[in-house]
Amino acid sequence: MVWEHYRTLSLPFESQAKPKRKYSITADILSYQRCPIQYGAFSTRKYEPSLSLELFYGDIIHQVLDQAHAHYNGKFDPSLRGTYPTDEDIERYFDEVENSLKARGLRATDKVRDKALNILKKFNEIEGPNLYNRILDTECKLQADRADYILHGNVDVLAVSEDDETEVEIWDYKGTDKPSINQPEYKQYEFQMQVYAELYRRKKGKPPKKAVLYFLNELDHVESNYRPQNAIMEVELNPSEVEVAMSNFDKTVGEIESCRDNNTWSYPETDPSEKTCDACDLRWNCQAAKNFGRNYRLIYP
Ligand code: SF4
Repeated sequence: MVWEHYRTLSLPFESQAKPKRKYSITADILSYQRCPIQYGAFSTRKYEPSLSLELFYGDIIHQVLDQAHAHYNGKFDPSLRGTYPTDEDIERYFDEVENSLKARGLRATDKVRDKALNILKKFNEIEGPNLYNRILDTECKLQADRADYILHGNVDVLAVSEDDETEVEIWDYKGTDKPSINQPEYKQYEFQMQVYAELYRRKKGKPPKKAVLYFLNELDHVESNYRPQNAIMEVELNPSEVEVAMSNFDKTVGEIESCRDNNTWSYPETDPSEKTCDACDLRWNCQAAKNFGRNYRLIYP
């Protein structure tokens, strides 16, 4: 019997080994930094949010743009390779994605739906001709093995640089307006892109030339075919900032682990923003929201 050859084999048993958790830059770290109470309820305790509008909006924007890129690359029909999607194509991709989101229980009001569709058509018209032919990859997965956890992120687009064909830019789409420099999101988005740039450098051996955030809601109400000034935020890549961002993320993961162990989620230190609280199911009974001057009251008919 073959197993008898291994009768005397002994292997060390590492009973203390703790598996590393995976932490997403946006879904875990930035979400916790925005509001630990909300993160604890919906990401860790897995409560189901009743308002799924934000999820719908973010998903439909990312998925339809992915379809638009695939269209240009001829993935749906090789004869269309190198052609730009028309408004009708965008509407069709939108309907397909919307149906798959409905199957997951994600729906939007007509107003939100129309806004998302309008913005996607505008993006396709304004950015498509200058961007689609430069795209190398979409939904690019990047990760880093940190001491106690795995850090991962999805870069929406890797594109050949406009001014140098040997260089690459990383792009991330946000279904929001551009935050002002004083809002906490501004710094968080900068951190996010610094870290994506570092993860990209570790994977490819060379940093990207540029890290670009695109705020799609800035296209709402745009009448012309020109990109509004606020749609883009270019993050300057700086190795010392990357170090700061990485250690900031390590600190946040340490806090999340400690909250998990104690099953207690602390109040946010900075204002999570009115929009975040307005969309949060916990707002009716949230002392933290009251501390930021928000008084939500249920009004019975
Ligand atoms: S209402 Fe605002 S402060 Fe309270 S848990 Fe929700 S996001 Fe956090």
